[in-house]
Formats: sequence, structure tokens, C-alpha cells
Amino acid sequence: MKELLNNLPKLAKDKHKENKTFFTKLKKKPPKQLDYIMQELHDEEFKKTDCLTCANCCKTTGPLFTDKDVERISKHFKMKAQKFIEQFLRVDEDNDYVLQSVPCIFLGADNYCSIYSVRPKACSEFPHTNRKKFQQISNLTIKNVAICPAAFNIVEKMKEKIKV
Ligand code: SF4
Ligand code: SF4
Repeated sequence: MKELLNNLPKLAKDKHKENKTFFTKLKKKPPKQLDYIMQELHDEEFKKTDCLTCANCCKTTGPLFTDKDVERISKHFKMKAQKFIEQFLRVDEDNDYVLQSVPCIFLGADNYCSIYSVRPKACSEFPHTNRKKFQQISNLTIKNVAICPAAFNIVEKMKEKIKV
């Protein structure tokens, strides 16, 4: 896994142009069963991928925290929301709450998330490959293939399966 993660940015860079063309065409004319196809590709990939051997998303990029996330997680710590924000978060250029630093402070050395049951929605949905109307998050996905080996594989499978 380590070697794959080291090579992933280069692999993603090599595919960047091809991916961009694919998603531009997909956006113009998404297949009717795209949601179904994506769910299938996502489930197939995550049967093989063990996130606990990877955790690259938690190590290299942080989630954004919605107000609901902040409320839920601070409650978990029995902290006031404002105190939680001051201790762990900052506001980014898009005015969203994000982690003060990466790797995520809640990630253990064993790659387990210490707040798994209350983790941010963005973490539970990452890499969003089973999201409805997947074509709408193509720019994000093009970025995510350089971080997430599962997303990379899913996009490669998409290009084989969907003729645009
Ligand atoms: S979601 Fe992707 S980047 Fe995150 S741990 Fe799983 S395979 Fe790795
Ligand atoms: S909150 Fe948990 S799942 Fe989310 S980035 Fe941190 S360690 Fe990973």
C-alpha cells in the first residue's frame, strides 16, 4: 500500500487529461443508470480496499466540519462547541471549518479514527464515489484520485464501463 500511495500522485497526474475529457463528456450526457453503476463500482472496490491499511485521506487532507458535525463531536467530548472549534479547527478560504493541521488529530497510529462513530459527514462519505449524480462532483473527484487509491480505481473502471 505504501508504494501505491507514493506513486498515486504521479499516476493521477498521468491520467489527468484523460479524466478531465471523460468527465466533461459525462457531464454533458450522463447515462440514465449512472447512480446504479456508481454504487456497483463503489461496492466492488471497497470489498477489496481496506481503508485501515491506507488512511491517506485522514493523513493528507482534512474534512470540512459542518455545524452539525461540530455539535455532535463536541458533545461526544463533553465540550462546548466554541471550545472544540478553538482547540481543533480553523476557518479556511471558503469560510468552512477545517482541521488546524493534517494528519487529522483524531487518527490513531493504527489508522483507526478515534471519533469514528461521530466523525464528520464528509469523512463518512469520502471519496463520494457512490454519491447520486456523481457527474456533478467531477472536479473534486479529479483531485481525489491523487489521494485515494480506491477513487483512482473506480474512475479507471468507470472509463472502461461507460462509453461517453
Ligand atoms: S477512503 Fe480512500 S484514501 Fe481514505 S482510507 Fe479509504 S482508500 Fe484510503
Ligand atoms: S475524523 Fe476520523 S475519519 Fe475523519 S479525517 Fe479524522 S481520523 Fe479520518
